[in-house]
Amino acid sequence: METTMQGLVFHAARDVRVEEVPTPTLVEATDAILRIDKASICGSDLHPYTGRMDAEDGFTMGHEYMGTVVEAGASVQQFEVGDRALGSFFACCGACWLCRRGEFSKCLGAQVFGLGMAFGDLGGTQTEYARIPMADLTLRKIPDDVTDEQALFVGDILTTAYDAVRKTDLRSGDVVAVVGAGPVGLFAMMSALALGAAQVVVIDKVASRLALASSLGAIAVNADEADAQDVILELTDWRGADVVVDAVGHESALKAAMPLLRMGGHLTIPGVYMDDEFEFPIGELWIHNTTIHMGVANIQAHVDEVLALVRAGRIDPTALITHRLPLEQAAQGYELFASREALKVVLEPGATR
Ligand code: NAD
Ligand code: ZN
Repeated sequence: METTMQGLVFHAARDVRVEEVPTPTLVEATDAILRIDKASICGSDLHPYTGRMDAEDGFTMGHEYMGTVVEAGASVQQFEVGDRALGSFFACCGACWLCRRGEFSKCLGAQVFGLGMAFGDLGGTQTEYARIPMADLTLRKIPDDVTDEQALFVGDILTTAYDAVRKTDLRSGDVVAVVGAGPVGLFAMMSALALGAAQVVVIDKVASRLALASSLGAIAVNADEADAQDVILELTDWRGADVVVDAVGHESALKAAMPLLRMGGHLTIPGVYMDDEFEFPIGELWIHNTTIHMGVANIQAHVDEVLALVRAGRIDPTALITHRLPLEQAAQGYELFASREALKVVLEPGATR
């Protein structure tokens, strides 16, 4: 391997560039080096990109990826050179009290790939190669009958969305509402259907995203044209939705989500809130016996279930891909995604390799 490689480097909001950076090497015996075959741009990459989240200059970006193992540390048992693998967007220690409980995303030593110092200072995956800590836990082998693109989102947004629905009390026949038809919202809708929901209502304002939601089996509601609460009440004999997903991470979405819930319903919030502060109607939620779930998705705990659903054809993640670009054009991909012209952008580091 060359000592340098191409990688997308964050400089400042709206300033990301593909540059020559050092090729990662094994640090711990539990590490693997993955050649990135496909990477993608996640809604969470937009937080530093749009300036919503402060980040320092100079780190490689990206945490949604799949590839081929090119080196494995001496303690790695599950992977050999040449194995195709997908990986979680974060690595965790696997040994602490929380990891032993299976609550991997709460590990105090967790590091997210490619989000800079605040998230553990781990290199990104919108690069030609990446160092994967705790490879046996972070990575999963991709079965031969699952394609690269089918596997790409399983380590991040698909399983994030699945996790958000899976940890509620969803039962067969339930009605689910999803606020936000971005990738997380659309995958939450597909997960809810796979987990037994009778109907899923998806709410957004972007017509192309709503059209896709509808073609994938949802009841699509354009918030500019109709009142989502009316639609839900009518569907549920005036009960309200059993589960509501905030797949946005913005006060406006939370405010839109709450009136859709039935008495005793579950509100689940994969959308990211950072230092946001606003009024929260705790009394109303208390009276309604609402259960709330939120936080970083427990990928390592649910990734096998999701991979099995994808492999069986129950969820087709490729339905969300709108653009494929060589890594060199990653900055253009960010603009396409940030402007909502693109839904999922696949970056191919190997395109010019
Ligand atoms: P996205 O920005 O592409 O999608 C958000 C969608 O919500 C857009 O289509 C937008 O039009 C819509 N929207 C915005 N405000 C709305 C409102 N008030 N009502 C209805 N629709 C509204 O992003 P994404 O990739 O789908 O990600 C969504 C969120 O999930 C982001 O905050 C991302 O960081 C987060 N995320 C969380 C985790 C986790 O572990 N919890 C992991 C990955 C991503
Ligand atoms: Zn992500």
